[in-house]
Amino acid sequence: MFTVSLYLKIERQKYMAIIITDDCINCGACEPECPNTAIYEGAAKWRFSDGTGFTGKGAHPTAGDVDSDKENDAISMDLYYISPEKCTECVGFHDEPQCAAVCPVDCCIDDEDVRESEEVLLSKKTFLHV
Ligand code: SF4
Ligand code: SF4
Repeated sequence: MFTVSLYLKIERQKYMAIIITDDCINCGACEPECPNTAIYEGAAKWRFSDGTGFTGKGAHPTAGDVDSDKENDAISMDLYYISPEKCTECVGFHDEPQCAAVCPVDCCIDDEDVRESEEVLLSKKTFLHV
């Protein structure tokens, strides 16, 4: 039988990056659920080292050479946002994006313009947590 969960699993094979839309109500529910600490409050600067095992400098699979402790500018000044370089779409941890699963207003959605393969997402996870 073609279940809804199977359908969702097939849909997730597309692996589109997750973005937070302007519908965010700043409830903060998603932030502690992210296994990569990729979600930040509006205006907060983000670092690769926040909540990960990455220290020093290294070659990120998609971002190139990065410094773990460098403070990077916020992507949104008003609403929670996701660092795309830290987001693995929960690949390597969970079957579905946890931010989307807990968001009360369903504003964590697939970014149709950004797709990454499972291989790339797993390499990002390894980079962040080794
Ligand atoms: S999809 Fe997963 S890894 Fe990406 S921001 Fe949401 S909770 Fe974090
Ligand atoms: S759970 Fe949804 S509404 Fe709440 S902060 Fe996260 S993205 Fe915004």
